[in-house]
Amino acid sequence: MSGPASRPPGAGGEVTRSAPAKVNLFLAVGARRTDGYHDLVTVFEAVPLTDLVTVRLRPAGTGEPTVRVSAFWSPGAPAASHPGAPALPQDLDNLAGRAAQAFIEAVGGRGSGLPPVAIEVTIEKRIPAGAGLGGGSSDAAATLLALQELCGRPLDARTLRRAAASLGSDVPFFLSGGRAVGRSRGELLTLLPRAPRLHLVLALPPVTLATAEVYRRFDELSGAGPDPATLATRIGPGLPAGGDSPAPAGARERETALEAFLRTLAGGEAGAVARCLRNDLQAAALSLRPEVGEVLRALVEAGCLGALVSGSGASVFGLAAGEKEAAGAAARAPSALPPALVGRVAFVPVVSPAWEVRDDPAEGARSGSGEAPHTLKPG
Ligand code: ATP
Repeated sequence: MSGPASRPPGAGGEVTRSAPAKVNLFLAVGARRTDGYHDLVTVFEAVPLTDLVTVRLRPAGTGEPTVRVSAFWSPGAPAASHPGAPALPQDLDNLAGRAAQAFIEAVGGRGSGLPPVAIEVTIEKRIPAGAGLGGGSSDAAATLLALQELCGRPLDARTLRRAAASLGSDVPFFLSGGRAVGRSRGELLTLLPRAPRLHLVLALPPVTLATAEVYRRFDELSGAGPDPATLATRIGPGLPAGGDSPAPAGARERETALEAFLRTLAGGEAGAVARCLRNDLQAAALSLRPEVGEVLRALVEAGCLGALVSGSGASVFGLAAGEKEAAGAAARAPSALPPALVGRVAFVPVVSPAWEVRDDPAEGARSGSGEAPHTLKPG
């Protein structure tokens, strides 16, 4: 991170932030609500696969603030090499552009408004899109935080969170990063201790999944009842690779299962955590992209203790016993793929969460109400 801590927005300036990806270690999904969202309980984990978001403010002559966003694939990023990698949205089609607009509106709503400025956002993307890794949401949160920094923090934590939630269910999580429980549609957060650190292998397959499509399939599967063909999602003997039943989980069941998961996580035994990994969207994701199941299998064959689709997919992560094991699994996994996928899946070992907790009670970090209590660990 760089740039001024606080200065009047009219003076301009530039801030660059790392925008991490996330995986969902646990995702229990309830029935569709009347507003179209699903109630869920999830455990988010920020992982050090990052986009770089640079926000520049330039003084402008007169008129309303303007927003430009330029997003490009980082040369050498695993996502860029996919033949089917989607074109990145620019300007206000990019969630980061909508974040800048939401920021302008939130500041304006408090009466003072921003002086005439040109906001330019540049995003160097490494996080694959449509991968269930929250890249767009993370870019949006990084944009909000950079604008806060550049404009002298005009928004209080609650207004900032509200602006983030208006952009997407995962955006509030990325204001803090680290590890957190998300409830409702994911926007109500309780931050968790970052220990124990987990050793993960991210697998980035050459396919994308749209979140809305996966939820639609989840609804179809729950309506249609269990279908053995689409529910065969156990990856290896005794290794639950996600929720086997697509039936929507009730509120009590979600909380009970979460409690058990958090207890196991706190225990710090990787094998036990692997057995508790859960993603209720996994059956839906696999029924839409069966090749993702092959990637899950490859991770386990390569030595991961368990493997799970992240969020709505199509990315997958494996949990390994330690750093050496994760590196070994990432190296072996390509040869465990079926021939059609060889050379088309990137395996990236990451230690997660590699974040420092800035435990500042004034920010309300522990209660989940503060902004940016976790920052990227230097080096
Ligand atoms: P979701 O947030 O829906 O779970 P995801 O994590 O699977 O999505 P994203 O990287 O957020 O994947 O991309 C989802 C879609 O959002 C993309 O296909 C793209 O059209 C759009 N999008 C908007 N802004 C961005 C951005 N900054 N980076 C990537 N995609 C973006």
